[in-house]
Amino acid sequence: MSGGGLDGAAAGLEELAGLINFRVGAWQDFGYAEPPTPDCATIPPLGERSAKAIEAGHEAIKDIDQLIARLHQVRAQLVSELRQDEDIRAARADELLSRSRQMLQPVPCPDHRPVLDSAAGWYCAACGSDAPPARGAR
Ligand SMILES: [Zn+2]
Repeated sequence: MSGGGLDGAAAGLEELAGLINFRVGAWQDFGYAEPPTPDCATIPPLGERSAKAIEAGHEAIKDIDQLIARLHQVRAQLVSELRQDEDIRAARADELLSRSRQMLQPVPCPDHRPVLDSAAGWYCAACGSDAPPARGAR
């Protein structure tokens, strides 16, 4: 677990979803659309819901808005972290590649006399190195 914002944004999503489920039940006065037994309550028809049910319905909408906002936060944070992860990996791969290119560079020969080409830079036909001539050499 990192102390980052992702844990904070994702924390309590299940609880919030559970609360919404509960409030939707309360909006329906905890009745059944199709009661499993005759003693089970049915959902009161619209226009006949209790004051408590109406209140629960309004609360459910607030909680749904909150959940949507939180989900957007979690999504944005995830997208950002995935991008950063990708950038770090790409930078690391670039570094490895340039390091291995450097290691593959031919070592300048003892009699190093590279020719300077205006487009390609230094090149020594003897060793294949593009290292500039040693200081003081002509
Ligand atoms: Zn050379």
